[in-house]
Amino acid sequence: MGLIRFERSVEKAGFFSPLAGMEYAEQTIEVRRDPLTGATAVSSSELSTKEEMFFGKTDWDHANDLATRSRQGCFFCPEKVFDVTPMYPDEVVEGGRISRGRALVFPNLFPLAAIHAVVTYPEKHSLRPSEFAPDLLEEGLGAAVDFAGRAERAYPATRHLQVCCNHMLPAGASMVHPHFQVFGGEAVPALVQTAWSCSAAFAREHRASYWRTLTDEEKASGERFIGEQAGCVWLAPYAPIGNREVMAVVPGAARVSALGAEQVTALAAGLSRVLAWYEDVGLSAFNFTLHGGPLGGAAGVAGDASGDPIHPVVLRIIARSAFKPDFRTDDYFLQKQLGGELIFETPEAIAATLREGFAGG
Ligand SMILES: [Zn+2]
Repeated sequence: MGLIRFERSVEKAGFFSPLAGMEYAEQTIEVRRDPLTGATAVSSSELSTKEEMFFGKTDWDHANDLATRSRQGCFFCPEKVFDVTPMYPDEVVEGGRISRGRALVFPNLFPLAAIHAVVTYPEKHSLRPSEFAPDLLEEGLGAAVDFAGRAERAYPATRHLQVCCNHMLPAGASMVHPHFQVFGGEAVPALVQTAWSCSAAFAREHRASYWRTLTDEEKASGERFIGEQAGCVWLAPYAPIGNREVMAVVPGAARVSALGAEQVTALAAGLSRVLAWYEDVGLSAFNFTLHGGPLGGAAGVAGDASGDPIHPVVLRIIARSAFKPDFRTDDYFLQKQLGGELIFETPEAIAATLREGFAGG
């Protein structure tokens, strides 16, 4: 048996059910616990076919209409972006903004942390998930990684740094125009701290990296393993924190700025594949976060011979409610106030679907 405990429990809910002609019937509910944090994810025998009722299907005419209406006056489009967006001082970014291929990096006008940059593609006012091609994502993620390194040097007190994305209104995007955000500072966000603390506790107990152990065990069992390329291991997480969640773990990279060109290319290729799959099943809005480990001397290695960081770079991608006129939030009491998520498509089924044609799968 491996070091990682994949716990699940089963509960029954019984009542006289109209689904069974008002006879007494029981439904089976399975609760999974994330092996690192204990976060819960629930699946139910009767809900497994109800994903469309909860998340909807994208109305692309409606999405195209919003894209057209928001094009005029958009701050991120080419005729405005160089005039109305902020610039960094030269000691942070020489020239004020970073251009990399089609991607452009500049400060967020209303920052929520000491480091809060926007990465956008000025020429792309709207993109469907399937239009985030590998080369386009490589330019955007590469620009974010480049900026991350400069930001760490310019602000040595930085303790955390992530690259995040809200795409389309149901995912929390305030701009239609696609963009990512580089987010870092001294005050570590609670969920980031939880992941770091739990990873450190695992490393103390087992003298091994949780994340290296996880990828080794998942590769060995194969159930949730999707593929591996350039040191990036793709998995469907056992207890997801969002719908159709997929993650990539880079066990050897301690921070976002340490990602090499090959790893950025591999992450871009995998991310592109996942986003195209979301669109295939009718979804359109998504979030992703590229997490890094602790900065500022707190990083540390796991204590075994590998030299692996205690918490490496991890990319997590989740689908959100589909964009349509009467879309419903997928963030209600369960997620927002109790902490937990529903599972419709199981992680094992997700891995089986994505493994097909995935590099290294
Ligand atoms: Zn625009």
